Amino acid sequence: MSSHISASEPLQFETRAIHVGQEPDPATGAVITPIYQTSTYIQRAVGEHLGYDYSRTDNPTRTALQECLASLEGGRFGLAFASGMAAITTLLLHLKKGDHVVVADDVYGGTYRLFERVFTNFGLEFSFVDLTDPAATRAAFRPNTRLVWIETPTNPLLKIVDIAEISALAHERHILVGVDNTFATPYLQRPLALGADLVMHSTTKYLGGHSDVVGGAIVTSDAPLYEQLKFLQNAAGAVPSPFDCWLVLRGLKTLALRVERHSENALRLAQWLEHQARVKRVLYPGLASHPQHAVAQRQMISAHGAPAYGGMISFIAHGGKSAAEKIVAATKLFLLGESLGGVESLVEVPAAMTHMSVANSPLEVDPGLVRLSVGVEHVYDLMADLDQALESV
Ligand SMILES: *Cc1c(COP(=O)(O)O)cnc(C)c1O
Repeated sequence: MSSHISASEPLQFETRAIHVGQEPDPATGAVITPIYQTSTYIQRAVGEHLGYDYSRTDNPTRTALQECLASLEGGRFGLAFASGMAAITTLLLHLKKGDHVVVADDVYGGTYRLFERVFTNFGLEFSFVDLTDPAATRAAFRPNTRLVWIETPTNPLLKIVDIAEISALAHERHILVGVDNTFATPYLQRPLALGADLVMHSTTKYLGGHSDVVGGAIVTSDAPLYEQLKFLQNAAGAVPSPFDCWLVLRGLKTLALRVERHSENALRLAQWLEHQARVKRVLYPGLASHPQHAVAQRQMISAHGAPAYGGMISFIAHGGKSAAEKIVAATKLFLLGESLGGVESLVEVPAAMTHMSVANSPLEVDPGLVRLSVGVEHVYDLMADLDQALESV
C-alpha cells in the first residue's frame, strides 16, 4: 500500500497541508519529513544519482515544502527561497533592462525599497499605482510593461485589490500578474484561481506561523515561467536551509486552524475598536465601513467557503503620532515589534518601523497609524490589553 499522496488528489485544504509532499520517509518510515542536512549526494557513476546532486539546486526537505505550498495555492509548481525578498528578487531577475512594472501603491516597505533603490539601478522601471482603481491601472500600462505586482490586503493600509479584475486588464496586454499573498494566506485567498500567473509569500509570516523562521516562496502553474524561475533559483542561489524548510512545513500543518482563529479574533477586535472613543478610524476588510468590503467578501473565502479577513488590523487613534507611540508602549500582550503572522500578537507603528523606507515618498504612511497582527490568544485578553493601552492616551 502506497502512502504517497499526490497534489492532484481531491483532498481538502487541511489534509493537503498535512500530507502533500510529506509521505513517510521511505528509508526509515519516519512520519515527519527529515531535515536532510546535506550539501551533496553520492553519484553511482558520473551524472547517475537519485535526483539530487547539490543542495542549492535541490534538497529533499525543500522539495517537500515546495510540493505542499504548490498544492495549497492550487498551483502546479512551487519554489522556496531564503526570504520573501529573495523570492521577489529572483522573480525580478527574469525581467530585462528597460522592462516596466506596475506596482500597488501601498506595498511592504522592503518591496518598495528593493524596486526603487536596487532594481532601478539595473534599468527596470516602476510605477506605483492605486490598483483599487481599474482606470488608473489601465492608464499606467506602457508598451514595455511586463509585470503587475499586487499586494492584497495591502500593507499597512489593508486596501483590497480585485485580483480577477486587475488580472483580466493585464492579460489583455499579455502582462504577467504576480500577487504577494502573505497577508491573506492560501487558506483565505487563492490568486491563481482568480487569474494571477504567480503567487509569492513571505513564509516568515502566517505560513511559518511561529515567528521562528525567515523564508519565501513562489507558486505558479505556468510551466515556462516555472522553468525560468527554477533556473534562477539555482543560478542566483537564494535558497532556504533544510531546517528552515522543515519549520515552514511544520507551520503549514496548522495553518487552517490558526488562520480561522486569527480571523475570528481580528474581526471581534476590529468591531470593538470601531466603538472606542479614542479611535478615529479602523481599517479592516471585514468591517462594513471598509471601502472595498464587497470585494473582500467575494475574494477572501476560507477553504470552508465562508468569507474571513485575516489577522491584520490598522487603526488611527485621536492624537496622531504621539498617541500611537503611547499605545504601543502601553500594550503588554501585544508585543511591540516588526513582522506579523505568528501565534502571538504584535503591534507596531509602520511609519517609524516597517515602512521607514517609504518616508518622504508618495507611499508615505500616516505617522499615527498603528498596525496590529492579531494572534491566537483569547480574544478577551487581547481586548483588555488594547483597552488599557487606549486608556493610557
Ligand atoms: C514580510 C513581508 C515581505 C518580505 O518577506 P521577508 O520574509 O521578510 O523577506 C514581503 N511582503 C509582505 C507582505 C511581507 O509582510
